[in-house]
Amino acid sequence: MTHTPHGKHLIAGEEVAGSASFPSSPAHGTAHAFSVGTPDLVDRACKSAEAAFWSFGYSSREDRAQFLDKIADEIDARGDAITEIGSQESGLPEARLIGERGRTTGQLRLFASHIRKGDYLDLRHDPALPDRQPAPRPELRMIQRPIGPVAVFGASNFPLAFSVGGGDTAAALAAGCPVVVKGHSAHPGTGELVGDAITAAAKSCGLHPGVFSLIQGGKRDVGEALVTHPLIKAVGFTGSLTGGRALFDLCAARPEPIPFFGELGSVNPMFILPGALGARGDEIANGWAASLTMGAGQFCTNPGIAVLLDGPDAEGFAATAKAALQDVGAQTMLTDSMAEAYRAGRDRVAASEGVETVLTTTSGQRNATPCLYETSGAVWLANHHLGEEVFGPLGLIVRAQDTGQMLEIARALQGQLTCTLHLDAEDSDLGRSLMPVLERKAGRILANGYPTGVEVADSMVHGGPYPASTNFGATSVGTLSIRRFLRPVCYQNLPEALLPRG
Ligand code: NAP
Repeated sequence: MTHTPHGKHLIAGEEVAGSASFPSSPAHGTAHAFSVGTPDLVDRACKSAEAAFWSFGYSSREDRAQFLDKIADEIDARGDAITEIGSQESGLPEARLIGERGRTTGQLRLFASHIRKGDYLDLRHDPALPDRQPAPRPELRMIQRPIGPVAVFGASNFPLAFSVGGGDTAAALAAGCPVVVKGHSAHPGTGELVGDAITAAAKSCGLHPGVFSLIQGGKRDVGEALVTHPLIKAVGFTGSLTGGRALFDLCAARPEPIPFFGELGSVNPMFILPGALGARGDEIANGWAASLTMGAGQFCTNPGIAVLLDGPDAEGFAATAKAALQDVGAQTMLTDSMAEAYRAGRDRVAASEGVETVLTTTSGQRNATPCLYETSGAVWLANHHLGEEVFGPLGLIVRAQDTGQMLEIARALQGQLTCTLHLDAEDSDLGRSLMPVLERKAGRILANGYPTGVEVADSMVHGGPYPASTNFGATSVGTLSIRRFLRPVCYQNLPEALLPRG
């Protein structure tokens, strides 16, 4: 049976209607009305989150693990309805929504098992040395503690895994931080169902209802009010460089500045070294085309740039990539404005002096079709904007004149989420010279693979130097992401009875 959204905000366990509404804009299916968020509602949600922190922030790891497991169960219980409305709102195929739900619930359950183990607390203990000369040492214990209420901005391109109940929310709740989510207006119905699931889980676990609130979007002042609210202690964000930078600046300008963990833009360059290009250029070109067009290219890890050495192998690579890309049909983008932004980005690249068109296609409305361009290393190095993200299935081949210029291109890169090396045994020396440069540029370095598909695991880093993220010491995927919402506290000579539960 088709689910009809209630269209209300979820504030500390209550459904709250706003005085104004906005219509959803689904790619297909029926549009629904959703309440518009307001700064007053943000204030109410943040005060409830602060009230919840006094119990939730001191809850046991087992209680929080049970809460996370219960959220996953409640999301699964709404699975069919989430898939239906999620696919309508985002235009993504149902199979993608089902897969993304598995990733989302898997991530919640992973955090449950992570905090049960307790390693994340990084417990340290320096026993007292009362007889030490010239002065005794006190007993010191260090424990990672939750920071307080966290604001989360749902991402447009992952309606589940990076949204209302996504990685940021899972990490914050695991740490012991109540969460106030600003839902993305591209998928308000999907967000509402996930919000219902979290609210139901909080209730059945007997938690303070302020542990979670969802405020639907609709207006810019909601996001501004959220990041500047004095009770919010950190922000998790995935989205555009412009939006993320504006919110980051607001966080820094607060009387009490707070960390803004923004995951912004990245072109995820691939360096295809000469041995690998000669031996298997066609295979790499086909793999690149598949990665570039997956989900209409709307992945933060989309590999937008391929850097290789000029010559006959480069010709062959471009021809194979073109053949693979021209067979890909039109794909629906997440929103009308993203499709427009994609076409504007494509036109900007196409109009750049020294850039040749390999494949250009036309698309209208909310659709995107792949495009492929190529340029020389010298032109790329002289044009800063050719290193900027075009969100969608657009590829740029950069032909370096020699290995020295390849290194120069690597050095000129902005911060990236990922950098990829395609290399064979004979490319080892060049690979070794690139590594120290790429390590300074990216959060994740891959060999002989494609960066789309981010494993949720202990070792994952989904972050990188600016503008890939606003905080290069952090990741927004994987268990390490919990560290964003913790801070170390040292307890000196405190009696056991006063120490927090580890
Ligand atoms: P966005 O425009 O940055 O919006 C993300 C969230 O931040 C939304 O909730 C938005 O609210 C809010 N927001 C943005 N600017 C704000 C401001 N100045 N003040 C207050 N709130 C603000 O990102 P998007 O809507 O997801 O997509 C737009 C573009 O972002 C895409 O075309 C793409 O280029 C890029 N993008 C990149 C990634 C990535 O992973 N790197 C992911 C998704 C999108 P409203 O919706 O109410 O405006």
